[in-house]
Order: sequence, then C-alpha cells, then structure tokens
Amino acid sequence: MEIYIAKGAGFCFGVKRAVNIAFKTAEESVKRVATLGPIIHNPQVVEKLRKAGVKPLDRISEDVDILIVRTHGITAELYESLREAKFQLIDATCPFVKKAQQYAKLLREEGYQVLILGDKDHPEVKGILSYAGENAVVVRDADDMPMLDSRVGIVVQTTQPVEALKRLLDKVVQTVKEVKVYNTICNSTALRLKETEEMTRKVDIMLVVGGKNSANTKQLVTLCNESKVRTYHVETADDLSAEWFDGVEKVGITAGASTPDWIISDIVRKIEAIGALACTSKGRES
Ligand code: SF4
Repeated sequence: MEIYIAKGAGFCFGVKRAVNIAFKTAEESVKRVATLGPIIHNPQVVEKLRKAGVKPLDRISEDVDILIVRTHGITAELYESLREAKFQLIDATCPFVKKAQQYAKLLREEGYQVLILGDKDHPEVKGILSYAGENAVVVRDADDMPMLDSRVGIVVQTTQPVEALKRLLDKVVQTVKEVKVYNTICNSTALRLKETEEMTRKVDIMLVVGGKNSANTKQLVTLCNESKVRTYHVETADDLSAEWFDGVEKVGITAGASTPDWIISDIVRKIEAIGALACTSKGRES
C-alpha cells in the first residue's frame, strides 16, 4: 500500500502563528491565559493548549489576566470593549483575516455597499461584517443574491473557493453599475483544494483529517466526495478502520488548516501498521 500526503496538508501560516502565540504566552507567563472560543477548530490542539495552561472560554470572564483573540478574529465592537477591559489582550487574528476586515472598512468608508461572500454564521464572517457598515450583506453563493445598490464592494471569506467568487461576480456585474472587488481568498486554502483534487485522481481512497467543526476540512471532504473517490473524514488515528484498506493500493491523505502534523503522522503510522509490510509512505507530495 502506498501513502500519499498532500504537501499543504495541515497547519496553515495563520494557524501556526496563533498556536505558537498561545503556547509561547502560556510558557512565558505565570498569569491566567485564555482564548475567546477555541483558538482553532481542532479539539486535540485545544486540549493540548488547555494542558499547557490556556483555557478556551465561551464568554468573557474577569477570571483571566491575558486573553488571546483567535485566528478567525472578532467583531469591531467586541475588540473595542476588550481593549478597555482590565486584562491584557493579545491579537492572534490571522493577518489575512485582518486584511479582509480592513478592506470591508475601506469599502464602507468609500461609500460602497459591502457584499461579503461567505457563511454568515462563521465567526470570521461575523467579524468582517462588523466593519462593513449597516447596509452590508452576506451571501453564501451567487444564487443567494438580494437586491443591491448601484455601487458594490466585494470581500470574501478567506476559505471560499475561487470558483464561488467567479460565479458571484458573473451575477453582480449583470445588475450593478460599479463593482470593486478585493479578492481576500487565502492562497493556502486554494492550494490545499487544488492539491487534494489532483490527489483524488491517483488514489483508491482519501482520508481527510481535521476537526468535524472545521469549515475548511468539510470543504475538502465535499471536494473528495464529488470526485467519487471513497472518502473518510477522520479526526485522529483512532477513527481509522482496518477494513477501509482491504484491497487498497494507494491512500491519499489531506488535512484541514487546523490539523497539526503529529495527528497526520499518527495516522500514517496506523495505516502502516494496518498494511504491515506492504506499506510505503511517499511523504509529502511536491
Ligand atoms: S487559512 Fe489562510 S486566512 Fe485562514 S488562518 Fe490560515 S492562513 Fe489565515
């Protein structure tokens, strides 16, 4: 059995940065450290951080000394109120998400109606929306379009596929006189999707590794399912079943942006144990 791992599988730049900030803060401080919500959508990493002394909070509490803002960012209002609170605030919002917030603010200031392509319930989108002004709208896809003003400025949730932006633009230009677009899609997401799509063409089964609540992991699962390759979404090596690999010659592994390398390595080891001598790990695809 041969195992292929997508080159860009696992932690992206923003997640790596936020997780490092959290571990470093816990290591260097004797104070009470917390994150507002889980720092990333991966329960195993959140648990590791908890053991290192970083508590995920559901709501703001006076019981902390240092509060870390997670990769997805927070709303403008919350940010302002936290800056006035008595604890120290460390902003680990991904710089690419910050950029999307800034563009939304800029478009609002320039008088555009801001149109955000994304999932309105996702914390990243809620954060961007808070900078976008009262007449801003969020659409999940091109079919979801409301009536728009004559001047529209577009920003995109960082994890959206570029095809979704193309479909949206195609529709917007049919009704709107002036359109300004900031393509805030993160390259790491686009690259991971592309590598995964290519991998599905050469393997017998695909394993998508990542938190069940991770949006970008679910996106990878959808893509693999659409490719018709037998696909399993797993969080850890414990989720693997030996019978999945019966008669399988090539296994592809991809992982969401919040999946750490050690989980991917555990999975490779378990597949190697299942396949015993017949297993060859190909390492990361280049
Ligand atoms: S996927 Fe991109 S935007 Fe999202 S945290 Fe990672 S680097 Fe930042």
